[in-house]
Amino acid sequence: MRKLPIWLSSILVLVCAMLMMSASNPPSGKPSYLDGSYVGKAEGHGGELSVDVVVKGGKIKSIAVHSIDTEGISDVAVKKLPEAMIKAQSVEVDSISGATMTSDAIKGAVSDALKGATLYPVSKTVATDVVVIGAGNAGLAAAVEASTKGAKVIILEKMAFIGGNSIRSGGAFNAVDPDRQGKQKIEDSIDKHFQQTFEGGDKKADPELVHTLVNGAPEALKWLEGMGMKFNDDVFTVLGALWPRSHAPIDPLGTGFVKTLKAADDKNKVQTLVDMKVNQIIRENGKVTGVVAVDAAGARIRYNAKMGVVLATGGFSANKEMRQKYNPKLTPNLGTTNHPGATGDGIIMAQNIGADLVGMEYIQLLPLGDPASGALDGWIGMNVEDYIFVNKDGKRFVSEAERRDVMTQALIQQRDQFMYVICDAHSMPTPQTKNSFNQTAESLVKSGKDFSADTIEALAQKIGIDPAALKATVDRYNEGIDSKNDEVGKKLLGNKLDKAPFYASGRVPTVHHTMGGVRINTKAQVIDVNGAVIPGLYAAGEVTGGIHGSNRLGGNALADTIVFGRIAGQNVVSTKK
Ligand SMILES: Cc1cc2nc3c(=O)[nH]c(=O)nc-3n(C[C@H](O)[C@H](O)[C@H](O)COP(=O)(O)OP(=O)(O)OC[C@H]3O[C@@H](n4cnc5c(N)ncnc54)[C@H](O)[C@@H]3O)c2cc1C
Repeated sequence: MRKLPIWLSSILVLVCAMLMMSASNPPSGKPSYLDGSYVGKAEGHGGELSVDVVVKGGKIKSIAVHSIDTEGISDVAVKKLPEAMIKAQSVEVDSISGATMTSDAIKGAVSDALKGATLYPVSKTVATDVVVIGAGNAGLAAAVEASTKGAKVIILEKMAFIGGNSIRSGGAFNAVDPDRQGKQKIEDSIDKHFQQTFEGGDKKADPELVHTLVNGAPEALKWLEGMGMKFNDDVFTVLGALWPRSHAPIDPLGTGFVKTLKAADDKNKVQTLVDMKVNQIIRENGKVTGVVAVDAAGARIRYNAKMGVVLATGGFSANKEMRQKYNPKLTPNLGTTNHPGATGDGIIMAQNIGADLVGMEYIQLLPLGDPASGALDGWIGMNVEDYIFVNKDGKRFVSEAERRDVMTQALIQQRDQFMYVICDAHSMPTPQTKNSFNQTAESLVKSGKDFSADTIEALAQKIGIDPAALKATVDRYNEGIDSKNDEVGKKLLGNKLDKAPFYASGRVPTVHHTMGGVRINTKAQVIDVNGAVIPGLYAAGEVTGGIHGSNRLGGNALADTIVFGRIAGQNVVSTKK
């Protein structure tokens, strides 16, 4: 990608700093409350304590405490604290002496109930039909569909640029495609895509959502092509896709998706505002009616959405605390491939208004992180059929066509959790050939990230591996292609590694994707903790859970963003609230 001029980089740093400041400062002014009935919970003296809070006309009208705390000690607090809170219209009241634990639990539970219901003063209110939160693929696609149906749509994006993870993705888009696959003699079907997705995620996904994804992907591909997006004529197998059905866009990375969708949004007069961080979804009397966003100067603006809100804020791979909270077994402080804005805001905001979450512990690691940054770029090679992984002893340790979780776990068992990807001129025919991240082979070798040599032995010397060991590994790999009997059981075999120059790129585990998120149904409606639809709230893309189960197939996420983004955009306009 083009390098930014220094002055622009400085402005961006400033904008990011202002954004962070506005996010961390508590809002000013006396809050009011949104009408509705709310449930909150907290740990009490004798176990979990819950409250029902009713707000009417912007005021707390009643607080019912369901306590199992010790009678005689807790009952004074259970009676007196709610009265005091209603009188003060605040949770900040004095505790009852002698019943401090119960008092704290009641305050905690009422705060929990009012988390999503507390509305601080705003500087202005804007009215529209649909608000979309997040300008990645899912949000942009939802906006295209909603605006095509005639709705007035505003997209709010917290970063200074649109695109999120979508624009920095490798662009691989999975869809069954009889035209392309037929020409390459690849046998495929919707059923096969379903089986591989469902079983590849250990059957932890919602099968209805998987059916929606795999059935919708071919049409989503055509929809993009119909808007002018171009893909290569051949499909390939992106890492962890398990089958050759990944489509590579002609434009670099994910830029083709974002460019195509944004052009369609612009044509439909969708308003896209950057530096606009949404920090609250407004739910009144059960229904989602809008959001509150904070601009770069810290002003709070309320956006009322007559038809509804589409949540498309992406995942939480860049939020270390959230990763550890939901999966304490994850190695802390791993790098990530994600953009810095992938912090799970949408999941937190939706949970505050009662949304159910699903599969939050399923966090995808990839074995392909840059050792310095965790980034995914910087390595040479595209097709899993055409490269191998070797450890520091020059030995292969896993099939390169395996599931992503299997490959990463195998890497974690190797010395220093480190490996080299080895490929040859079949992947990179000339020094100017670009990888999926738009980088040339020449530039990667020049920058010292990757290594190249005319023989395997010379390459081994450059990367500090015993030349004889690496040569023996590559010879066995090539023999396995002839005999169709690979030493680590790889099934998708392509070219032999026998065409100079040979390349090596050092790689480590990195956090790549969060499969968990808000629970949705096949209409992309968000479901609450009681299993009911939250009227007016739709979600699509990586902010949702239940589509990929415990392990996402490579190339399925971009398909997910377009399939469910479209569904959310269509339904936010047409579904009766
Ligand atoms: C390096 C990399 C390569 C990848 N390659 C592939 C691939 O080849 N194929 C594949 O299928 N998948 C790939 N993925 C995964 C895929 O790119 C993502 O899952 C997908 O793009 C997510 O799209 P999205 O629209 O849900 O979220 P995003 O594209 O991340 O967009 C979400 C947007 O919401 C914004 N946002 C967040 N919070 C707020 C808030 N509070 N207020 C306003 N805006 C907010 C974010 O800033 C962001 O712009 C890759 C991911 C990465 C990181």
